[in-house]
Amino acid sequence: MKKEPFVTNEQLQEIVKQYPTPFHLYDEKGIRENAQALKEAFSWNQGFKEYFAVKATPNPFLINILKEYGCGCDCSSMTELMIADALKFSGSDVMFSSNATPAEEYKFAYDMGAIINLDDFTHIDFLEKTIGCIPETISCRYNPGGLFKISNSIMDNPSDAKYGFTTEQMFEGFQVLKEKGAKYFGIHAFLASNTITNDYYPTLAKTLFEMAVELKEKTGADIRFINLSGGIGIPYRPDEEPNDIRVIGERVRKVYEEVLVPAGMGDVAIYTELGRFMMGPYGCLVTTAIHEKHTHKEYIGCDACAVNLMRPAMYGAYHHITVMGKDNSVCDHKYDITGSLCENNDKFAIDRMLPKIDRGDLLVLHDTGAHGFSMGYNYNGKLKSAEILLREDGSAQLIRRAETPEDYFATFDCFDILKDRKKI
Ligand SMILES: *Cc1c(COP(=O)(O)O)cnc(C)c1O
Repeated sequence: MKKEPFVTNEQLQEIVKQYPTPFHLYDEKGIRENAQALKEAFSWNQGFKEYFAVKATPNPFLINILKEYGCGCDCSSMTELMIADALKFSGSDVMFSSNATPAEEYKFAYDMGAIINLDDFTHIDFLEKTIGCIPETISCRYNPGGLFKISNSIMDNPSDAKYGFTTEQMFEGFQVLKEKGAKYFGIHAFLASNTITNDYYPTLAKTLFEMAVELKEKTGADIRFINLSGGIGIPYRPDEEPNDIRVIGERVRKVYEEVLVPAGMGDVAIYTELGRFMMGPYGCLVTTAIHEKHTHKEYIGCDACAVNLMRPAMYGAYHHITVMGKDNSVCDHKYDITGSLCENNDKFAIDRMLPKIDRGDLLVLHDTGAHGFSMGYNYNGKLKSAEILLREDGSAQLIRRAETPEDYFATFDCFDILKDRKKI
């Protein structure tokens, strides 16, 4: 499928007059339509709730859009909990799915009334010592080990993942939690990331639903929700088929009716913690080609770098690139598209066939709406970019300003770098 940017060249030329590149741009219309589609796909389940994985795109403006569709927040750290709190998500609107969790974060989550999703058996004691009790509602993260397969293809390797309770620990954990006063239980698992198949959720659901039936039988636990977590992927490459959320929802329903309903568990709520699926396609990184270099290879140097989008450097991830205004030109030039870090892996694309790029061309890197800006860092003293929302009416709204040197130096309390310098 041809990948087209959600913004036109004319719109973008207007936006860059006001906001200099690089920046991340988000598509309000796309975010809304997708959130609505997810809600409809699971509307068969009374208690269904999507807890947006805040780490994917921790921007209050964007999270507030999702809130209109009934989404909660899935948080993994203190500052993410603070964002949820500031946006007035309360109690069971917040899921706290963390690991190697510091005591003060458990305390903060408990005080907010968030649902705590324990990552490990030993955290039962740790949590009890930290907050002085076990909450009425508690969730445990499951890791079955082995390889996670769909039919014959290996999706991921849970036995190599640091997360979750083993099968034995789930049974013992539910028993212990019950004895310590927990009343309502949830089960969570995240077994494969960025899956581009409609089979992932239904396969995971079967594992978790069967586990839930057995846990209920053996421990008498009152299981209220099953959290299928994140992992639904997006087509980063033009040749990948997008997932169909309606098909996924229907197939999870089928497993629900086969496994949970006959066990008298037809009132269990389904939760999700999607990040990438909610935002990934609805964000892009806009950068300007500022240099061209002809040596052993052909390079285009951009004003964005891995600080703005780490996935290619970190995972070798593919992000599609559109050269704005050259949509109909032939891709007859082979380029490495690079940033300016003193790191040879600071390349957004290697040996990519693209139209001829000239200095000043705007490049759109697709699908940066999740795990894009948020993974950023400050290597080489590079500053983080702005985030801009393309509203449904076509206007552009600044939803996070770009970092300034003042921001970067702000933590040197005892050394004022900007003292003798006029502000930049
Ligand atoms: C990262 C994460 C998610 C979101 O994952 P996506 O791949 O973005 O859907 C959900 N839950 C937990 C616990 C996570 O760590």
